[in-house]
Amino acid sequence: QESVQNKTEAVMTEASDSSADEPMIIATEVHKWYGSFHVLQGVSLTVNRGEVVVIMGPSGSGKSTFARTFNALEDYQRGTITIDGMKLGDRQGNVDAIRREVGMVFQQFNLFPHLTVLQNITLAPMWVRGWKKPKAKEVALQLLERVGILPQASKFPGQLSGGQQQRVAIARALAMQPKIMLFDEPTSALDPEMVREVLDVMRGLADDGMTMVVVTHEVGFAREVADRIVLMDDGMIVEVAEPQEFFQNPKHERTRKFLSQIL
Ligand code: ADP
Ligand code: MG
Repeated sequence: QESVQNKTEAVMTEASDSSADEPMIIATEVHKWYGSFHVLQGVSLTVNRGEVVVIMGPSGSGKSTFARTFNALEDYQRGTITIDGMKLGDRQGNVDAIRREVGMVFQQFNLFPHLTVLQNITLAPMWVRGWKKPKAKEVALQLLERVGILPQASKFPGQLSGGQQQRVAIARALAMQPKIMLFDEPTSALDPEMVREVLDVMRGLADDGMTMVVVTHEVGFAREVADRIVLMDDGMIVEVAEPQEFFQNPKHERTRKFLSQIL
């Protein structure tokens, strides 16, 4: 009796899991050249709703270039990319819609130095989403609280630590209410003692179910937060695996070599 019930539950869980697989990003055989340099050599990846995918790989392997194609910061010459059902490259209208849905956080925080923290966050929602100031401000203050820097709202970026600035950058991206967040080495420019506060914010986002693509070499984060880890090398995806498998039992020589360098 009990085992039958367990089985039924298992089947139902499986069924609801598979029906919940909703692709938010589908990249298929993406190729890109910088002049004659073949930087993306047929890269394919699907990211489902709520999934956290970490991209690792040596410097120059094309991680940033690949991630930046997802919100049309980089173009590409072959293949297709579909974001939340919208095909990139079809129409300019799609690019605008996709940029509203895909937030991005960079290694260099790229805040506007002459605007306060609050103004940095309210600017895009007011311009792009057409929100009135009170609404933009209310949302911004909630986000500042969420990333733990509400007391800094009226300061300028130059008055904040690197970790605080990066949390402002995250709040600014979230203010557009994106469905997907891209992070490109968000902690690489930070002093070691500030890495954690930024990773904690990202972990919180993941726990809330945000769909995330994170380029990072933070092994602890990748191990604990990633659903899957992608290893890129020479413009190709070499290996995709769940963290346990990726770190304990990598299939490919290049993954082992890469891990031996960072672990
Ligand atoms: P990663 O993020 O993995 O370090 P990138 O995507 O930044 O790698 O870069 C991949 C390769 O493309 C590198 O060899 C880099 O020098 C080259 N590259 C990046 N941007 C440009 C550009 N605008 N023009 C020419 N080459 C570029
Ligand atoms: Mg990079």
